[in-house]
Amino acid sequence: MIVVLKTGASKAQINAVIREVQKLGYRPHPIRGVERTVVAAIGDERVHHTLETLASMSGVDQVMPVQRRYKLASREAHPAGSVVRVRGVPFGGRDFPVIAGPCSVESEKQVMETARVVKAAGARLLRGGAFKPRTSPYEFQGLKQEGLEILAAARAATGLGIVTEVLSERDVDLVARHADMLQIGARNAQNFALLVAAAESGKPILLKRGLSMRVEEWLFSAEYVLSRGNPNVILCERGVRTFETLTRNTLDLGAVALAKTETHLPVIVDPSQGAGRADLVNAMSRGAVAVGADGLIIEVHPDPRVAMSDGAQQVTPVQFGHLMRGLAPFLKAAGRRLA
Ligand code: PEP
Ligand code: MN
Repeated sequence: MIVVLKTGASKAQINAVIREVQKLGYRPHPIRGVERTVVAAIGDERVHHTLETLASMSGVDQVMPVQRRYKLASREAHPAGSVVRVRGVPFGGRDFPVIAGPCSVESEKQVMETARVVKAAGARLLRGGAFKPRTSPYEFQGLKQEGLEILAAARAATGLGIVTEVLSERDVDLVARHADMLQIGARNAQNFALLVAAAESGKPILLKRGLSMRVEEWLFSAEYVLSRGNPNVILCERGVRTFETLTRNTLDLGAVALAKTETHLPVIVDPSQGAGRADLVNAMSRGAVAVGADGLIIEVHPDPRVAMSDGAQQVTPVQFGHLMRGLAPFLKAAGRRLA
């Protein structure tokens, strides 16, 4: 930590800061400038007390951390990227896996049909919501347990691992019995009790970025999972709320590049929630490859016009096939391969 004193801080104020830094377990190293004094507090910030309380001392202008406080998620402590495997599919290495499937599980026929076409087009995992987080309580809430059973049947038929959302702590065991990876949705990205319960299931966690979450907050949510002994976290950028109204969200590809520098965890992109528009999914997928994302999660529906949720953003099987074929030169340029 660096403690910056105010211009004109008295000797007594500076000494009080030095004593407090020492009391909290750090070695104080005062640097006296012409106008101001700065006290560098030497010691591991992740095992000692935070010095933020010093900001309230008279004479102190600012207290600045120099180490990341998400010690398990940060790249500082783990310079090499981590590879997270989901039913054998690796995220975070040279491979670039694509997860695809409908927004919601609606029927066995819909899921089976989608699973077969996305697999044929090169997707490695199947997505589909059985528990749906809907803004209105009057909208389709998902088939719940029946939906999970449909997903499990699709896995049995195609071999594709299953990615599905868990909305509540109460359902973690049930969802974990059926899924290969638990999705924590944007609306629950800071539901800390749910993060802990999901972590304890031992399943890999797909952690969406919250609707207005800073990258640092997103990494702290990942830290909740990692600190419960579950190392298998994949981050997912899915757009944030902005002033733009022509898209549902603003896909923040800058945050992907930033997150990749801050953390060793894999980061994937969801261009479907990111745009809310099927016609932008292809362009955003290519952009995701270019900024260094480690994979994609894309909503595909056999007939988006009749979808029970997110109809406007789901692509058809034909559009998905076109998207996957078109990714090839971008992946090659980025030194990646479709897993
Ligand atoms: C979804 O994947 O269908 C979904 C609801 O995602 P998010 O939590 O990112 O909105
Ligand atoms: Mn959706």
